[in-house]
Amino acid sequence: MKVLTSIVAVIVISATSYGQRSDSLSENEMQGIVYMREEEKLARDIYDSLYAKWQVNPFGNIRKNEQIHMNRMKALIVSYKLADPVTDGNEKPGIFLNASLQKYYSELIHSGSQSLNEALKVGAMIEELDISDLNRYQKSTVSKPVSETYAYLKMASENHLRAFVRRLKANGINYLPIILTTREFEDIINTDKEEQNKCREGKYCEG
Ligand code: MN
Ligand code: MN
Repeated sequence: MKVLTSIVAVIVISATSYGQRSDSLSENEMQGIVYMREEEKLARDIYDSLYAKWQVNPFGNIRKNEQIHMNRMKALIVSYKLADPVTDGNEKPGIFLNASLQKYYSELIHSGSQSLNEALKVGAMIEELDISDLNRYQKSTVSKPVSETYAYLKMASENHLRAFVRRLKANGINYLPIILTTREFEDIINTDKEEQNKCREGKYCEG
C-alpha cells in the first residue's frame, strides 16, 4: 500500500510539473511574442504611411493584413497574460516601445518617401525582416498555439514578399535579399506558380 501511495504521488507530481510547463512560457518565448506584436505594428504603420504617400497596391491591400497579424499577436498576449507593448500612448502610428523598431521606423519611412521604387524596396525588406524573425522565434518555441500563429504570419509574409518583388520586377528592378540568404529568398520567390496566381487573383493573400 505504501508503494502504491508513492506511485500515485509521483504521478501527481509529474502531472503538475507537466501542466506548468505547457501553461507557462520561457523568457525567450515571451520576449518573442511581445516583439512580434510590435513588429507587425511596424509593418502596418509603414504601409499605412506609404499608401497615403503613393496610393498604390500592394501597400493598400497588405496594410489591412498587418492589422490582422497584430490582432493575432494580441490574442497570444492576452492568453498568456503578457504586458502588451501596444497600449494607450503607444497605439499611435510610428510609436514603438522597442528602440530598434523605433529606429527602423524612422529610417524606413525616410527611404520609402524618396520614390515609389524605394517604397517598394522598403516593403520587401520589412517582409524579409518579418520572415527572418518569425523563423527564429518559431524554432525556439515549444508552444503549439505560438508556433501555429508564427506559421500563419510567415505564410502571409511570404505572399507579401512575392508581391513587392513582383511589383519591383514590373518596374524593371531585380530585388536582391538584404536579410534572408539567397537560398531562403529564392525558395520563397520560386514557390509554385499556381500559388502565386491565386495570390495575384486575391484569393490567397488575405493572410
Ligand atoms: Mn505581417
Ligand atoms: Mn507583411
